[in-house]
Amino acid sequence: MSKDNSTAAPKDAAAVILLRRNTDPRDPEVFLVRRSEKLAFLGGFSAFPGGQLDTSDAGVQVSNSTDAEAAAAISCAARELFEELGVLVARGAESLTKGQRVSLLDDLESGRMSWPELLRHYNLSLDACDFTFVGRWLTPPFSARRFDTWFFLVNCPQKQEPSVTPGELSSGEWIAAGRAHEQWQRSEILAVPPTLHALNTIADGLTPDLVERFLAIPHAHREPVRRIEFRPNYICFPVRTPTKPPATHTNCYLIYNSREILVIDPGSPYGEEQQALAAAVDDLVRAGRSVREIILTHMHPDHVGGVNSLREHLGGRVKVAAHRFTAEPLSDTVRVDRLIEDGDVIELMGSPRIALQAMHTPGHARGHLCFYEAETGTLISGDNIVGLGSVLIDPPEGNMRDYLESLRRMRTLPNLRVIFGGHGPAIANPYTKLDEYISHRLERERKILEAVGDGAKTAEDIVARVYTDVTPKAHTMAERAVLAHLEKLEADGQVFYEQEGWRAR
Ligand SMILES: [Zn+2]
Repeated sequence: MSKDNSTAAPKDAAAVILLRRNTDPRDPEVFLVRRSEKLAFLGGFSAFPGGQLDTSDAGVQVSNSTDAEAAAAISCAARELFEELGVLVARGAESLTKGQRVSLLDDLESGRMSWPELLRHYNLSLDACDFTFVGRWLTPPFSARRFDTWFFLVNCPQKQEPSVTPGELSSGEWIAAGRAHEQWQRSEILAVPPTLHALNTIADGLTPDLVERFLAIPHAHREPVRRIEFRPNYICFPVRTPTKPPATHTNCYLIYNSREILVIDPGSPYGEEQQALAAAVDDLVRAGRSVREIILTHMHPDHVGGVNSLREHLGGRVKVAAHRFTAEPLSDTVRVDRLIEDGDVIELMGSPRIALQAMHTPGHARGHLCFYEAETGTLISGDNIVGLGSVLIDPPEGNMRDYLESLRRMRTLPNLRVIFGGHGPAIANPYTKLDEYISHRLERERKILEAVGDGAKTAEDIVARVYTDVTPKAHTMAERAVLAHLEKLEADGQVFYEQEGWRAR
């Protein structure tokens, strides 16, 4: 369980859209990087270099800037660009040799000099004229890590060639903005809305109204994006729900093509959120599509709370589909019209071809379904894998043995390229994530078995010994998880229960 607090204020950050020198103004090239798969936040995504504001950033003088906040953001942008790509955008840097820049970078990385000290020491200065402001974007509230990111357009200085310093980034390349956008359209890369907006805007050419076009949407002025299309045809639409912290939202997915729309997990019980979702569905319908079905991954309230309202909004005609073990517990609240079995294929009419294969993956809930789209390697994972927080296995609905089996089955899917979870951002490193999930559970199991071997007899005893990283407030939930592990170990023949408590075999 994470200590992240999603209600905390977004942290200031800056990103640099680096333009290639002498680029063709009709088909300009930008430097696009790939974030390391190991990163917890947006690992594996294509993005622009950048990062969080450092306390030292504000200590730098920026000429031609009258606003202290903007100056600090420029300082952060310049520092991140230097640290991540070795490109130094500072007045005076043109007289440095490549070797000198490398040694400067080493001074900074090793901590021998702070960023302001380094600039002063080498007589370098930052100028706001080198950093064109093209928008400020807020991370949507579905993430525990939220940023208020300043975007700057920067011309790559003469004689400097960006190169990725391995670590936070795994690679980078000069690419025509239009081509990068096509890669996204072909589902070859994953990107967040500000990146896609930048690629789109630049692809239309370096025209005199370029900055105006960048700033023409409210999202470039800190209005959070609601429809997040990490992948074309898959809209992630987070809705506020009474869910388990650190999550505050549940992802509803709108999967669409030219003719049909599937709505997965409209989970919010709140009127305002239901209206926002209905408006997004209406937008898709107005373009000539129809809603084929509302599909439920599982029965938890934060995934089904908005079903009735959406059905009503759509005139009551739309059908709801789910697994039998989801339909049964919901029978008093949500009418399920069609049952989905493992292996069923839901294929949308129209183009592009989208065929979702249903997988019955119990563990978090008995009737849990995942949906796999083989062509683009997309997995809708519900609450089996989430982009935020941890997955609770709470018996008897939850079953650890089933859960591990489901994770292993998901791990065998070929060509898996993205996981869209029930909470948090998309997961661009699916196999790494699945391995993490499996090994995390096995590690917990090993510790629990060890604790039982050492004489811990109740779930409470075990939590006190094993869940040392969890706040006492979360102990009740941890006890449920321990019980799930004990049930699995019992089924595996490794522990048994006697009147006074659990014992190892
Ligand atoms: Zn759930």
